[in-house]
Amino acid sequence: MKVKVAILGCSGRMGRNLIQAAIEHKSIELIGGSVRKGSSFENFDLGEIAGIGAIGHKTTTDYQTLLAADVLIDFTSIAATLEHIQWCKQHNKALVIGTTGFSDQQVETIKAAGEHIPLVLAPNTSVGVNLLFKLLEITAKAIGDYTDIEIFEAHHRFKKDAPSGTAVKMGQVIADTLGRDLNKVAVYGREGITDERDPSTIGFATVRAGDIVGEHTAYFADIGERLELTHKASSRMTFALGAMRAAFWLSEAPAGYYDMQDVLGLKD
Ligand code: NAD
Repeated sequence: MKVKVAILGCSGRMGRNLIQAAIEHKSIELIGGSVRKGSSFENFDLGEIAGIGAIGHKTTTDYQTLLAADVLIDFTSIAATLEHIQWCKQHNKALVIGTTGFSDQQVETIKAAGEHIPLVLAPNTSVGVNLLFKLLEITAKAIGDYTDIEIFEAHHRFKKDAPSGTAVKMGQVIADTLGRDLNKVAVYGREGITDERDPSTIGFATVRAGDIVGEHTAYFADIGERLELTHKASSRMTFALGAMRAAFWLSEAPAGYYDMQDVLGLKD
């Protein structure tokens, strides 16, 4: 049986790719999707928004019309996602959250919702990036204690948060592996007289330019050599396909708070 999926935020950059990925996925049935209230895309055919021809389902702002969905996929905004979580709790729906930029406190709210419904919080749904998280853990364990660790990320000019959720998660994975508190060791950008580098810090650097889909590099640098682990996304479809994988996996999961490592079976 196919998993019934609804896409929230259909007219966004990710929304359009998610529609296409849902239509192409052999085990998923796209039953509808939402746009924000007042959007000029209300009542538009989902297929037409994605540029692949009409499919007979129109966008809505009335979430009651999405009750047939088993799983909702949300790549919208922080405020919208927090509202969507409440709706999913009320109606016992599973939720894949791709939205990024949540504060620690907001993540706690999302975790608490996982006691009632199955949800995946995935600041990056690409399979390659999630494998990168695993490689970072291995690398940090092996050489993280004596190398300088820096994280670089680049995204398109329209991105609203910085550093990216993925860059922060990379830092979190490394800090957790090394037993450091990221809130204490993170250095976000440098300017002026900075003094010598504190070896316990994890640095973050951000570029926003043009149409870069997403690039992330972690540097583990010593005197005489450095290791760079890089992921480059060349199309948003990679995130959309990963989100479908998460939705399919979540449809069979009990209530709980999950991430892509759970979805991909990368946890020890
Ligand atoms: P975008 O601005 O192009 O799209 C967001 C869409 O959400 C807009 O169309 C907006 O109208 C819609 N929206 C806002 N409030 C809504 C509501 N209440 N109901 C329905 N729709 C609503 O942004 P984007 O580039 O598509 O990114 C969206 C989010 O996904 C961002 O947080 C971004 O950082 C994140 N993102 C995550 C991944 C990942 O792999 N997890 C990949 C890319 C982007």
